[in-house]
This record gives sequence, C-alpha cells and structure tokens, in this order.
Amino acid sequence: MNNFVIVIHAGAEKVKPGELPAEKEKAYRKALSQALQAGWEILRAGGSAVDAVAAAVQCMENEPLFNAGKGGSLTQRGETEFDAAIMDGRTLKAGAVGGIRFVQNPISLAKVVMEKCKHIFISGTGAEEYALRYDLPFKTPDYFITDEKRKAWLEKLQESETTEGHDTVGAVALDQEGNLAVATSTGGLTNQQKGRIGDSPVIGGGTFADNEVCAVSCTGEGEVIMRGVLAHEVYALVKYAGNSLQQAAEKTIRLHNNKLQGDKGLIALSPAGEVAIAFNTGFMKRAYRIGSQEPVVALWEEE
Ligand code: ASP
Repeated sequence: MNNFVIVIHAGAEKVKPGELPAEKEKAYRKALSQALQAGWEILRAGGSAVDAVAAAVQCMENEPLFNAGKGGSLTQRGETEFDAAIMDGRTLKAGAVGGIRFVQNPISLAKVVMEKCKHIFISGTGAEEYALRYDLPFKTPDYFITDEKRKAWLEKLQESETTEGHDTVGAVALDQEGNLAVATSTGGLTNQQKGRIGDSPVIGGGTFADNEVCAVSCTGEGEVIMRGVLAHEVYALVKYAGNSLQQAAEKTIRLHNNKLQGDKGLIALSPAGEVAIAFNTGFMKRAYRIGSQEPVVALWEEE
C-alpha cells in the first residue's frame, strides 16, 4: 500500500502581508482545509486519485472566495466564464472544457469528458450541450457572480490590463494504488476578453499528470504559463534532466524569466509522494496532507 497524498492550491497572487484582512486570511485557511479534507477522505478510504482531485476542486468551486465556479472573475462583459481540466496519470486520459458559463461545477464536466467523450477538449455551447446529456447541474448567471468579484471587475473596467484574479484552484493526488491525478479549474482573469481561454484546461500548459513522473497544476497568468508549457516543463525536467521534483518546480517558475514575465505558481506531486510547491508572487493559497500526518495549510512564502 502506498502512502496517499493530496496537495491543493487556490491561486498565486501578489499580496503583501498587511494587505490581507485577518478575517479573509482566516476564511482562506478554513476553505482550504475543507477542500483538502474532502479529497483526503476519498484517498484514505481507498478511493482513486481522480476522484480525490475532482472532489477537492469541486469543493473549491462551490466556495465563493475562490475564482472557480461560484465566485469566478468577470469578463469585460461582466459575465463569468469557466475553464477546467482533469488528467488521470495512470491512463494519460484527460478531459477539458473551456469558456463554459452555466454548469455549476466545471470540473465535473471535465471529468465526464475524460470518461465518456471521444474528444478531450470541448468548449462553449457544445460543452454545455454535452453537460445536459449527462444531467449535470446548471445554474443561472447570478449564482456565480459575487459582490466581491463584481467590485473587482468595476475597478478594472477602465484598464486594458487583465492581470488579476489568480484564485484559480487545483489539486494533485496520489492514491493508495500509486496512481497520480490532477484537476484545475478557473474563472480566468478579471476583465478578460469574452471567449478568452487560459492555461488551466490546456493539457501540458496548466495541467498535467503521468504516473511515472509527476502530477502538476499551475496558477498565474495563463498566457505566460501556456507559452512556457509549464506543467509539462516540470515533467520534462524530472524525466529528462534528472531534476528532483522541487528543483524542477523552482526552475519552471524561473523559466525564460525575461521573456515569460508574470505571476506564476504550481503544485506538483511525485509517485513517491514527494510534494513540490513553487511560486513567484510571495503569496499562494495552498495545503497538503501526507497520509495520516497533520494537514499543512499555508498562504505566505515564509510558511
Ligand atoms: N491561470 C488562470 C488563467 O490564466 C488564472 C489563475 O491562475 O488565476 O486563466
């Protein structure tokens, strides 16, 4: 029996100590603990890594504090649009959805795509029609839009830059059978162009898992993450360059630092249960739990 492990994140963003109200910090830690627990329970009961990452991410999608599902960032048009992906490291099967608007849990749709669809990446209305076929729950737009995200959108409306909203959520897990999986889900960037799709649903970009090497979920500026193919970069540095997982994670964050400037963060997990976390923002909401050890929940770099 392998030691089971789960690692989650809820986004890397530039926040300085003192900028985050104590109440909010507490709420983040509580929400992270709950999502971690949801995935961990599945692993402890002998469930699969795929089910564990889906459960942890679904929990964070239902949490309005995070930028995925309820509480997603608003596009230029003041609407929410979601991307999500899941990958099974055992089979290398993957499912991804982009630009969906009304499915309550985008990660559930990505999982159905992985399990049932002959394609791996579907978007927009086609993806939503696919969700209807499998009776996935839908919600009206007001369910997803929180006052906080509407305020952030109003503040950004006058600017052309869309560099905020890195509360994307993700999870990587290792189950008792030794299988790895990853899931990532996001509402994208505040004030993004309607129809913009980020790195989260791009296999190898923001999401990647292979039992032999690692599972990786990224957060940060999707345009930079996609151009660096960062989730796959971690894999490649371990597999072909013989780096340790933590070395690979750190090198990946620094990759082409001059050409790929922007906020970047990632969580990674090896088949041996090694946890690696790296980010360049000073702040990343994250948590992990190794077997029956105490859970670790952290926000700041020094933690
Ligand atoms: N990576 C996400 C995107 O670009 C945003 C985030 O991590 O918050 O869509």
